[in-house]
Amino acid sequence: MAAEGKVYLVGGGPGALRYLTLRAVELIEQADAILYDRLIPAEALALAKPQAELIYVGKDGMRGEAVLPQRQIEERLIELARAGKRVVRLKGGDPLIFGRGGEEASRLAQAGVPFEIVPGLSAALAAAAEAAIPLTYRGLASAVALVTAHEDPEKGEGSLDFAALARFPGTLVLYMGVGRLAAVCRRLIEAGRERHEPAAIVERAGDPRLRVVRAPLGDLPQRAQEAGISPPALTIVGAVAGLQLESQPRHAGPLAGVTVTVTRAQPQAGQLAKRLAQLGAATVEAPAIRIVPLPAEPLDPAPYALICLTSPNGVEPFVERLLAGGRDLRSLAGKTVAAIGPGTAAALASRGIRADLVPRRFVAEGLLEALAETELGRSLRGRRALVARAAQARDTLPNGLAELGAEVDVIPLYETVAQPLPPPLAERALAADYITFTAASTVRSFLAALPDGAAPLKRADRPKLVSIGPQTSAELRRHGLEPDLEAARHDLDGLVETILSHHR
Ligand code: SAH
Repeated sequence: MAAEGKVYLVGGGPGALRYLTLRAVELIEQADAILYDRLIPAEALALAKPQAELIYVGKDGMRGEAVLPQRQIEERLIELARAGKRVVRLKGGDPLIFGRGGEEASRLAQAGVPFEIVPGLSAALAAAAEAAIPLTYRGLASAVALVTAHEDPEKGEGSLDFAALARFPGTLVLYMGVGRLAAVCRRLIEAGRERHEPAAIVERAGDPRLRVVRAPLGDLPQRAQEAGISPPALTIVGAVAGLQLESQPRHAGPLAGVTVTVTRAQPQAGQLAKRLAQLGAATVEAPAIRIVPLPAEPLDPAPYALICLTSPNGVEPFVERLLAGGRDLRSLAGKTVAAIGPGTAAALASRGIRADLVPRRFVAEGLLEALAETELGRSLRGRRALVARAAQARDTLPNGLAELGAEVDVIPLYETVAQPLPPPLAERALAADYITFTAASTVRSFLAALPDGAAPLKRADRPKLVSIGPQTSAELRRHGLEPDLEAARHDLDGLVETILSHHR
């Protein structure tokens, strides 16, 4: 009998990884297939297993049409579950609030497919909190209505009872396309809602680019238009929108208001993004490659005089292998550990290993030069060296070590797997002010992961392309792209410094 599959209708919260519930994280990590919408936090997909099937079923960015009709989404869920898969249906916000989660659940129930509903933080709650607008407030609002105004009231297809909404004794939260704002506000006022009533539109809750425009109901459409508010956004109508609660500016710092796309393999996308965020930038992490550790065969470091690590990605799997052999860091005593650059050295340090050697030039050639200047480098003849690295890598380092007389073992620790960017993430990545490239490989994998390749980066209004150094710049040029900025110092600090001084 085939294992029984199950569908999880999971709320992803609005636009930010930090709003995922622990249950959602757990389910995404275990899922065999994930069907996801446009407004989910796109970074959440990086939590999926490498072999998980990721299926975009949201709207097409250009035409605003669904890529898969609702009926077919439901059939797909049923099909996958019947094939014994753990299927996550990931939606923005809460799955049961204007997300068609209810329809999907009833279809699954009808089909006899087991399912579980996992609540999420709905956009109204996040938007209100981030705008510091309390949806209820003693004496001002003792009721809240969540309203979808997606239907077009002008076309008469709206099922909204504006008279009832106008009489509603409390706060209205309108989930809707920005294009409907003017018509909806006008209809509310015509039906009797006060035109001077406080209102606010909140754009991109959960995102560092959050914006809030407050205005009386009658002026809100005009003011939102002047500010260029675009989806996703929702509108709050009611006295509470007029409260001016004390709140610190959210994003202070030299890079406030700047958005930077970080293209790197997952583990270090975090590092660079964190540094930029500390400076006030909004970041879009667009990992186009994923690091997949190879099975942790036990490693005995005893025979080696020299151990070289060529990437921060290798550090974790390297330590795993020592442990797998029943050893620990003490087995490295007396050995020379070389790191190819400061990132690798920092990753080693975080596992309690101080690198003995970090070259000035952070490439294989640099490491060989630095090594040649050491006592060990001069006496490598007949001694054994270990190069622990990615499965696919240049042979410069092992060949160079062999030329110095060493007997070289190469151990592949992990593979880098290309990963297409989910369309909503690609769109955000391309809308940034800067895109950073930290290696030639990130240029190749990022371009390969974009639905339309390099083409959108050739437009005049494209983000500034920031390269970490000459190799990376050369790779950009090979794809017909001219880097706007190149870091003077070829490491993450240098890259951040370059953006800072350009922005100043
Ligand atoms: N299930 C979702 C709502 C889906 S309807 C939830 O519970 O949040 C889509 C509407 O939600 C959008 O048109 C917009 O009005 C609102 N919305 C979704 N994400 C948003 C965000 N990050 N910021 C502001 N509004 C958002």
